Amino acid sequence: MSKKRISILGSTGSIGLSALHVLDRYRDRFEVTGLTAWGNSPDLKKQIIAHRPKIACIMDEEKAMDLFRDPSLKGTKIVWGTEGLIEIATRDDVDMVLSAIVGSAGLIPTYAAVEAGKDIALANKETLVAAGSIFMKEADRRGCKIFPVDSEHSAVFQSLSGQRREDVKKIILTASGGPFRKKSQEELKKVTAGDALNHPTWSMGSKITIDSATLMNKGLEVIEARWLFDVSSDMIDVIIHPESIIHSMVEYVDGSVVAQLGMPDMKGPIAYALSWPERLDVGVKPLDLSVQGGLTFEAPDRERFPALKLCYRALEMGGTAPAVASSANEIAVEAFLEGVIGFVQIPQLIEKVLLNHAVTEPENIDDVLKADLWGRKEAREVVVQMKREV
Ligand code: NAD
Ligand code: MG
Repeated sequence: MSKKRISILGSTGSIGLSALHVLDRYRDRFEVTGLTAWGNSPDLKKQIIAHRPKIACIMDEEKAMDLFRDPSLKGTKIVWGTEGLIEIATRDDVDMVLSAIVGSAGLIPTYAAVEAGKDIALANKETLVAAGSIFMKEADRRGCKIFPVDSEHSAVFQSLSGQRREDVKKIILTASGGPFRKKSQEELKKVTAGDALNHPTWSMGSKITIDSATLMNKGLEVIEARWLFDVSSDMIDVIIHPESIIHSMVEYVDGSVVAQLGMPDMKGPIAYALSWPERLDVGVKPLDLSVQGGLTFEAPDRERFPALKLCYRALEMGGTAPAVASSANEIAVEAFLEGVIGFVQIPQLIEKVLLNHAVTEPENIDDVLKADLWGRKEAREVVVQMKREV
């Protein structure tokens, strides 16, 4: 059996690290061809030494030069910047690209990978949020398979397996509800970035952790599901399930609900995306329901957590609206992490930007990137206004 050759975009992040753990455990099946990092060159250096990829990319040219001059990294080609990411995503000797950069920065290389006909293990949901229609069409045209890494979408993908699509009634995405599920509106006004970074069930990068606390992550996942599974937004529901054991479900017309369960560990969905249709033992703790005890559910509170509603609204607005909501959110999260705006101002900011946006139908990725930039610029202006209000 020849080895599957994998490039990881964003190898030093939370998903990237879990993926390398999986690949390390199955060195007989996988080869690491390319690795990329934003700015953490000591981590990237360690990864290059451990996995000896053919090529590695760091965004900063000077840091790339340091890696290039390092004798211990001989044998790995060092590239930098967006051009470097694209090279790693599109090389002939890559079979699958794991897209695990955070935010819309992942869009350009992931789209390039699809244009080059690569299969994608997709963690970077922002790509589908911003460019879902264009991205899925291109994947279809090039015959690329898109395997979800997001645990909810992996669960839906598994729950759809072997079923007739016309029998699907609803996709039900589960959400942990984040650390502030029980906080009142008044209490939410006072929470800090430190409080929000303390997620109850998943350990993740900082942006997605804040997105989980606002429920924006679930909203982005609704949009992701809309494109990944080609269903309308009224067929996608969200339910809060604090234990994060049921990773999502599909309801069928006969009233049957098919779900996927497991301990919350991203190595599971990552491994499934990399090795489908095979299942690998990657050390995910077995689920013992008798020890686990009760599984609980509640409806999401769309008033205290309006980000979820805003994502449905962006889907209804269509065209460039989801790209704008997503880029405005990135700026809002940055501003919250820097202590410039408060937690409840994150959805307020996204709403203001969305309401100011004149939606157009993007014809290509450049149109999407322009909308993304517009959303960022507009959001920065709203941050300045909000700062004045405080
Ligand atoms: P992270 O912040 O831990 O890692 C991000 C990676 O991208 C790092 O390697 C970083 O160096 C790189 N990066 C960041 N900004 C970049 C830029 N501008 N250009 C190039 N590279 C850049 O993020 P994460 O938690 O691993 O999440 C990655 C993606 O996976 C996100 O889209 C997130 O929504 C999705 N996801 C994550 C989880 C999770 O458990 N962490 C679960 C589901 C989906
Ligand atoms: Mg998820």
